[in-house]
Amino acid sequence: ILVEFSMGVSRFPEDSLVYNEIVMYADLALYTVKNTGKSNFAFFTNQMSEHLKEKIQIKAIIQDAIENDGFKMLYQPKICLTSGEIVGYEALIRLKEINVSPAMFIPIAEENNFIISIGRIVTNQVILQMANWRALGIKLKPVSINFSAIQFQDIDYIDYLTDCLNQNNISPNLIEIELTERVLMENKEQAIVLMNKLRKLGIGISMDDFGSEYSSLNYISDLPLDVLKFDRELNLKLLSLDDDTVIMKLIEFIKSLKLEIVAEGIEEYSQVTKLKNSGCNIVQGYYFSRPVEPEEILSLNDKIYKI
Ligand code: C2E
Ligand code: MG
Ligand code: MG
Repeated sequence: ILVEFSMGVSRFPEDSLVYNEIVMYADLALYTVKNTGKSNFAFFTNQMSEHLKEKIQIKAIIQDAIENDGFKMLYQPKICLTSGEIVGYEALIRLKEINVSPAMFIPIAEENNFIISIGRIVTNQVILQMANWRALGIKLKPVSINFSAIQFQDIDYIDYLTDCLNQNNISPNLIEIELTERVLMENKEQAIVLMNKLRKLGIGISMDDFGSEYSSLNYISDLPLDVLKFDRELNLKLLSLDDDTVIMKLIEFIKSLKLEIVAEGIEEYSQVTKLKNSGCNIVQGYYFSRPVEPEEILSLNDKIYKI
């Protein structure tokens, strides 16, 4: 039997003179080891406690935002490279009062299961917003919502989503759910059940951040998917290659699986032209537009971008 162990070490009197703190710091060092691959040891550092303090602060910020309507959504357009039209939006969460990025607070919300409440708040806000846009005379376009792996524990989520849609008279075809590769790696069976249920309702499924982690072409072929989103890193890698046939063939292959491709994080015109020439139809990124406030959609929605 192979026995593996992880160890966290704190030192008296260097780290603290207080017994409870010494134990807490050793724990913290142990926690760091476990989060970075296990079967190792680490000495406590001040950086670890700074990190923990920051986490505790962010946790309090999230809790407060959940209780006091502290979140808002921004919307980032996705542009069709053939027509220059906006073909849809991605809803991206922000804290109203504090400038902490979701890349920072979403993982903490996931650790604390706050993400379940956040997931519902996001869903509700997006659908209300769409009803609001419609009331203002805007032609509705599909909006995608990010869905975290932990949200699989929210077993009534689909009912909640359906209620929101029905109450606001929004068609499920106008909603797309973005899942990450990690979701599928961790809960493949559960994920497929949920994906099938969502698709049956008419909701589109998109695989987010493709190319940032596992990037397995093997599993995407047998998943119930509609869209594959190329991660910014993957785009940078593919677009920097001298040989254009790599990206062309990859896009061709993915299209042969009847999947739509959205290239994310596009900041430069040279990337836009290269993607277009390689057969990619839809692009999202700062080159066209940053995520914007919902009011801006009023003037943006019918814009035709020059490609
Ligand atoms: P994501 O879903 O992959 O979203 C794309 C991120 O890239 C967004 O960051 C967006 O603002 C940013 N981005 C867009 N265009 C560009 C570009 O041209 N260059 C660069 N450098 N970045 C670009 P954001 O809004 O900070 O969100 C970060 C991540 O947080 C998202 O990545 C998503 O995983 C998560 N997230 C955001 N909103 C939600 C939400 O409502 N629910 C959940 N569960 N996660 C969310
Ligand atoms: Mg996304
Ligand atoms: Mg992404």
